[in-house]
Amino acid sequence: MEHYFDNAATTRPLPEVAELMREYFTDTYGNPSSLHRKGIEAEKRIKSARGQIAEILKVEPGSLYFTSCATESITTAIQGTCRRLSRFGRHILTSRLEHAAVRENLNALQMEGFEIEYLDNDQSGVILREDLEKKLRPDTILVSLIHVNNETGAITPLEGLGKLIHARAPHAFFHLDATQSFGKYPIYPRPMEIDLLSASAHKLHGPKGIGLLYKARSVNIPPLIIGGGQESGFRSGTENTAYIAAFGYAAENFYAQREEILSRMKELKIKLCNALTEAIPEIRPNGPSLEEGAPYILNLLIPDVRAEVLLHSLEDQEIYIGSGSACSSHRSGHKDSPLAALGLNQKEIESSIRISLSRFTTEEDIDAITQAMKEKIPMLRRFVRK
Ligand code: PLP
Repeated sequence: MEHYFDNAATTRPLPEVAELMREYFTDTYGNPSSLHRKGIEAEKRIKSARGQIAEILKVEPGSLYFTSCATESITTAIQGTCRRLSRFGRHILTSRLEHAAVRENLNALQMEGFEIEYLDNDQSGVILREDLEKKLRPDTILVSLIHVNNETGAITPLEGLGKLIHARAPHAFFHLDATQSFGKYPIYPRPMEIDLLSASAHKLHGPKGIGLLYKARSVNIPPLIIGGGQESGFRSGTENTAYIAAFGYAAENFYAQREEILSRMKELKIKLCNALTEAIPEIRPNGPSLEEGAPYILNLLIPDVRAEVLLHSLEDQEIYIGSGSACSSHRSGHKDSPLAALGLNQKEIESSIRISLSRFTTEEDIDAITQAMKEKIPMLRRFVRK
């Protein structure tokens, strides 16, 4: 039996989501721009999904744009802001805890002469508000922050953040990377003064390949993709009706049950962490305390065990975990890992694993991974090169 613990990478789509999408390939396949009945039907479904998401964020449906993924949303938000606001300044604030989608966009902008400044964070991986207050300047044009950290589960407290940013940097836009938090926590961009927000369907049991960008009505940035004028001219390209409808459904479904889902996940995460640290006392959780972090992400340092080796060893028992995006198949660098910003050295980063839960995680899954890790870790440590 499979035990899947890599939900921060992606989640298994809900069975209803898979079922719902089928209809769009067999029946409701019209182009939403077409004037006939089949087109109008598809257009209606998109409108309905946009409404479902608007309800969650409590924003106007017209301020939401469907994209191909969170990375596209983030790129549109960051590149668009810099193009539009460069006449006011070239200073950008962010953290060392960001996902590669934000980090690499900012690295590219640095090459073009933008000044990227990093906020200090505490040991649990949360940015220091005093530092933000200190570093905001009249020529700051963008503040881009992650909400729930994909590696550690650390949560950026949003209370008063947008207000502070706009008070100290009147021209700046505040972009929130809510890819790991959208639909799981209440986020209200308007009262929270969030100008731009990025999200993705596949983190809450929707399909991969469909993202969302919220853009406040007052934010005037250019589109990244131009062409046929879909999505009110802000994101051209024929809409992916099936995925959009599935996104709307998955988000609404999760959000309606979020409290019970999150509280069950929290119980399971605490049970798992306690069982593992009791059995192997050297194991140390990275990042926030079990109480403070998101209940679906647990990052553990297992000294003298290479995360990658443990990952493959667990895989033999159909147990799937994450080893952190720093050592994903696309990159081998460690200095960019949020764990480095928490003070971990390269060896510690290479010995850190990420166990991420979902609404499908059961007690049996927790028992299976606990048992397997108790057996494998002492064995793997015997073979470690010191
Ligand atoms: N931002 C964060 C925090 C993420 O966790 C991810 C995905 O892992 C992304 C952005 C990118 O999302 P997508 O794969 O939908 O482009």
